[in-house]
Amino acid sequence: MRVSVVGAGLGGLALAQGLRGAGIEAEVFERDPGIVARFQGYRLVLDPAGFQAVRACLPARWHPLLDEIVMDASAEQLVLDPQLNEIGRLGAGRTGIVVDRQVLRHLLLTGLTVHTDAALTGYDVSADGKVTARFARRGPAIADLLVGADGVASAVRGVLSPQTVPTDTGVRFVIGRTPLTDEFAGLSKAYGSKITGDGVSLLLGAMRFRTPPKQAAERLAPDVTLPDIGDYVRWAMILPPDGSTADPTAQDAVLSRMAGWHPELRALIEQADPDNTALLSIRVVKPGGRWPSGPVTLLGDAIHATSPTGGNGANTALRDADLLRRCLIASADGRQDLLGAVGAYERQMFEYGAEAVRSSLDRLPAFAPEAKPS
Ligand SMILES: Cc1cc2nc3c(=O)[nH]c(=O)nc-3n(C[C@H](O)[C@H](O)[C@H](O)COP(=O)(O)OP(=O)(O)OC[C@H]3O[C@@H](n4cnc5c(N)ncnc54)[C@H](O)[C@@H]3O)c2cc1C
Repeated sequence: MRVSVVGAGLGGLALAQGLRGAGIEAEVFERDPGIVARFQGYRLVLDPAGFQAVRACLPARWHPLLDEIVMDASAEQLVLDPQLNEIGRLGAGRTGIVVDRQVLRHLLLTGLTVHTDAALTGYDVSADGKVTARFARRGPAIADLLVGADGVASAVRGVLSPQTVPTDTGVRFVIGRTPLTDEFAGLSKAYGSKITGDGVSLLLGAMRFRTPPKQAAERLAPDVTLPDIGDYVRWAMILPPDGSTADPTAQDAVLSRMAGWHPELRALIEQADPDNTALLSIRVVKPGGRWPSGPVTLLGDAIHATSPTGGNGANTALRDADLLRRCLIASADGRQDLLGAVGAYERQMFEYGAEAVRSSLDRLPAFAPEAKPS
């Protein structure tokens, strides 16, 4: 069996690793010109099931490395004012496993065949059931199964399920990161909490690697090369609907809304790494009607993009990767035919994917009361 995976995000790479581990041929096609072509280095909180899913896709020999490049999350989830006084609680405390998305991507990429600068433009299914994927700047690729793991604006979904389109919630946010130095020791109670004032919310989260990723890889898995990055604070400011257009940079957009805020909070934004700061929109994709199962399917944000305020998009993409991996292994072993395996995956994925989007939207008003997520 040969599988073409479109999109080198967490979901697509986890699937490709899982298939490679089972001896199934998988190639990944990524639109970006390189793997670190744009800012993607934010931290993610995985729940135990999401972490287990990515672990299951990786070879066992890398599990010690995976365990060394994460941290345990336990956050009080307070609501604080701009002077860091507690004024409420966001909800029950959250626990989980914190990973850096870019570091995890590097681990997931190791040993895979990944073609960059390969933007999918369309595909055809031939009479014998094979799929030919077409790309903007490279020749076509033929496979038994094409998996669209190409994110919220999925080109694969555009052909397979054109009626399923993203909804813009109108909420925008600036995300960035700042090296975690002693100067920010006083902010620790704000990690995992929401700081609110002047019509905006600022969210902070620390990323403290158990061991710096590059050194951890050198010690535990010399066949893996991980980026040389240290601990940092990830911050995100949710902007009101008219936010930020007049500001020259995303960083200035945040600072202009923090006049009189606690000096450590302002210093955190001032010292942010400009290359790792970005203005993003919150768009969701609700899984619509099912298509007849065939040799093309979708996973992750391509079919169920959640609001980041739900903290469940990566968890769900990784769950998809693990589930599809297991279904395809059953097919490769002769326990089920390919279309039966794809159908079994899609039946489950549609159900929990729709629930993931719903629950993420339920949590959006706590961060952006003016959001229109319908
Ligand atoms: C700031 C922020 C914080 C978040 N925090 C959390 C969290 O704490 N917990 C959590 O579970 N989730 C979180 N999420 C959500 C999570 O990041 C996403 O749900 C997850 O990364 C989706 O993975 P994916 O593989 O489906 O898609 P993506 O990671 O979007 O990957 C899609 C890939 O496809 C490529 N691509 C696109 N079009 C094409 C094309 N035509 N041809 C080829 N390649 C293409 C893209 O370049 C990209 O590399 C957060 C998201 C954001 C933005």
